[in-house]
This record gives sequence, structure tokens and C-alpha cells, in this order.
Amino acid sequence: MNNDIWSSVLAEIELSVSRASYATWFQKSTLESYDSHKAVILVPNIFTKQQLEVKFNKTILSLLEKHGVAVKTIVCTITPKDKQSPKEQVLVAKNSPTTLTPKLNSSTRLPLNDKYNFDNFIVGSGNELAYAACQSIANHPGEKYNPLFLYGGVGLGKTHLIQAVGNGIKANNPEANIVYVSTETFVNEFLEYIQFKKKGFSTRYRSADVLIVDDIQFIAGKEKTQEEFFHTFNALHQANKQIIITSDKPPKAIPTLEDRLRSRFEWGMAIDIQPPDIETRQAILQNKAASHNMVLPEDVVEYLAKNIQTNIRELEGSLNQLIAYCELRDMEPDINIAKELIKGKQHMPKHLSPKSIIEKTAEHFDISVNEITSSKRDKSIVVPRQFAMYLLRSELHLSFPKIAVELGRKDHTTALHSVEKIQSLMSNDFVTRQHLTEIREMLHG
Ligand code: ADP
Ligand code: MG
Repeated sequence: MNNDIWSSVLAEIELSVSRASYATWFQKSTLESYDSHKAVILVPNIFTKQQLEVKFNKTILSLLEKHGVAVKTIVCTITPKDKQSPKEQVLVAKNSPTTLTPKLNSSTRLPLNDKYNFDNFIVGSGNELAYAACQSIANHPGEKYNPLFLYGGVGLGKTHLIQAVGNGIKANNPEANIVYVSTETFVNEFLEYIQFKKKGFSTRYRSADVLIVDDIQFIAGKEKTQEEFFHTFNALHQANKQIIITSDKPPKAIPTLEDRLRSRFEWGMAIDIQPPDIETRQAILQNKAASHNMVLPEDVVEYLAKNIQTNIRELEGSLNQLIAYCELRDMEPDINIAKELIKGKQHMPKHLSPKSIIEKTAEHFDISVNEITSSKRDKSIVVPRQFAMYLLRSELHLSFPKIAVELGRKDHTTALHSVEKIQSLMSNDFVTRQHLTEIREMLHG
């Protein structure tokens, strides 16, 4: 009975959230019991509990009611470990495409990026209020919270949230003119407008239905731009258009901000985002991993969340590194790899890839990438190629067949011999060691 009700609830939730969110938050939940007051839901861990109780609370309540269970609250209980289903499996084929580096748009005005949405925004005590305000704005722009002034440290999700608002409004109302701009772009465009009389500046901003300005702290000290922004602000605000602003500090703390602008920023609602607690960090990791079609073992999630506390961008970066590391070597993520990653963080170059090793080695020996990956047998090319192979092995631990492929070889024995050759030279040949030191400096520098 409970199972039937919960299946119906889950079926509807599955339609309204992303595959990753569904897999992370709902797939392993069950409805344990309910009375007239509360429904008890079993979940596998503390961070799932947090998401269901805080973020999905209302959705679950209303769906339960729809399916005949009218309760006032939901309570999540964590399933004891021994009752959990056997070892979690990777969700989908491992080598399904993953995008680790978002493509940057080349135009200066960044359009809204739909990878930032409410669905993949994890809610915790540090950002709960900001999240609620943003959702309310997405559903009723211009009504409450106008302007919304969102502030907090770097990498804590400000840009993500305000873009989610933009995307949310666009989904409800495709006609709405949503203008998202970084303050730097706004400043630059304003300067062009002044210097070269470039047309369209005022109209562009004043015709917005929703104006979203990111990182307003960069307007500090720019008096003319502040004045222009002041007028834009007034025109929009008077017309009940929604304005959203972010900053790394509260209005009061932005130096050389004109008082009249400061007071405008304080008209609506100023909300801060605080660094995430450990449950939120765990939740973020698990959800991001799921969006890469991976389920991370819990000890890995815990370890990363414990060790990276500062900001979410960094947390995400480490996870991406972990995924890339494992994909390259065809390994499953485990606690030892995670430890190695964190331990080596200071030493590990950020973007060391087979490609960069080959490029730098070629550059060091003053030959082209085409040459080093060609089949030419000249000594001036064979030797650099051997170095490249050795470095692919020593820096990235690639397998010999992989090394061969990277350098355009069919046969992996050449790779094996090359690595051995350099290895033996290293022990007694000063020049070889010198070459390696210099190439490594280029790679890690
Ligand atoms: P800020 O603008 O505050 O410097 P961003 O919005 O750029 O930070 O966030 C940095 C990264 O962390 C982004 O990739 C974003 O998607 C991610 N992120 C931040 N907060 C959350 C969250 N609560 N849930 C999921 N991802 C988050
Ligand atoms: Mg930002």
C-alpha cells in the first residue's frame, strides 16, 4: 500500500526533476509509514534527508496529498546501513560523454546558461533563504524582493542562482526580455557608448523586463557608470521590472559607492549566502557525480567534503579532476584515489593532459606536434618522442597501448622500449635529466 502510494509520488517527481536529481534524491527512498500528522520516509543518508526535508518538502507534501495521504510534515529517517541494497552501481555506461569543461561563449555578453537551474542547485542552511527568494522571484518577477541584492563569497553559488532565476522566468514566459550582464561588461559597454557614441546602450538596458547584474562590486569608483546605472535602475524599478544584483559584499561595504545607489540597493531585500555545511557539500558532490553518470562511494564523498571546505567551485573542480583521472585510466573512483588527489593537490598541475605533455615536449625540443606524432625516424624526432612517452607514463601513469595511441603508433612495444630507454638513461645521463627537469618545469609552472 505504502509502496503504491510512494511509486505514484515518485513517478510524478521523476517527470519534474532531472535524471541526476532523481537518481540522487529519490530512487532509493521509500515511504515507511504515515499517520494524520506526518509521513516517514526512509532515505539512505543524511544529505538526502536534508534535500528532501528542505528543498523538496512542499513538492512531496502536495503529491502525497494528491495520492490520498494528507499530512502536515514529512520526516526522513536514515536507513540503517545493513538494510541498504548492495553496493551502488554506476548508473549508465561509463564512457558516455561527459562535459567537464563548460564551453565559454565568445561574445562579451553572456547569455543565460541553462546549466544553471534550480533543479541542480543544492539547498542547505547557508543558501536556503537565497534559494527561496530566487524561486519566488522566478514565479512572480517584480512583485516581492525588488531589487534582490544577493551577496556572499566567491564560488558560493550567486551566479548559479541568479541565472536560475533568469532561466526560470524564461521558461514561464518565453517572451520576457531578460538581460543578464556582468558588471564588467556593463562598464565596458558604457565606456564604448561614451567614447564612440555607440548606439543602443540605454535602450538595451532600459527595455529589460528583468535586469540581472552580476558582481556589482566592480562598479566601485566608477562614478559615471554609477550615474548611468542609477538612472537605469530608477527607470526599471518605476515600471515594476525585476532587478537582481549580486556582489561579494553587502551594499554598505562596497567602497566608493554613491549613497543614492547604495540606498537603492537596500530598498528591496538583501540576502547573503554562507559557505555550505558538510551535508550540503556531500549533497553537491553526489548530485554532480550523478550528472556525470556516476555514483560515488560514500567514503569518497565524505572524504572530499571534509577536505574541501572553502568554496563550491573548488569542490566541483576536485570532483572533475577525480572523474577525469579515473576515466583516463579506466578505474572506478575509490578512497585511495581521492586521498592521492587531495594529497597531491599542491603538486598536481591543474590541467595536465596527454595533449599538453606532447605539446610541451615538442616545444622544448623545438619541433612541431605534427612531427613528434609522425612516423619519421630521424634522431631529432625519435628522441623527443621517447621523452614524451616517458612523461606520459611518469606523469599520468598511462598504459603502454594508450601511450602508443597518443603518439600515433599502432604498436605498444615502441612505447615500452622508449620508456625503458629514458629510464635507464636517467640514472647516469645528466643531459637526459636536465631535459626532463626543464620539460617538467614547463608542465608544472
Ligand atoms: P559565485 O557566483 O558565488 O562566485 P557560482 O555561482 O559561479 O559562484 O558557483 C560556483 C560553482 O559552484 C558553479 O559551477 C555552481 O554551479 C556551483 N554551485 C554553487 N552553489 C551550488 C549549489 N548550492 N548546488 C550546486 N552547485 C552549486
Ligand atoms: Mg559569480
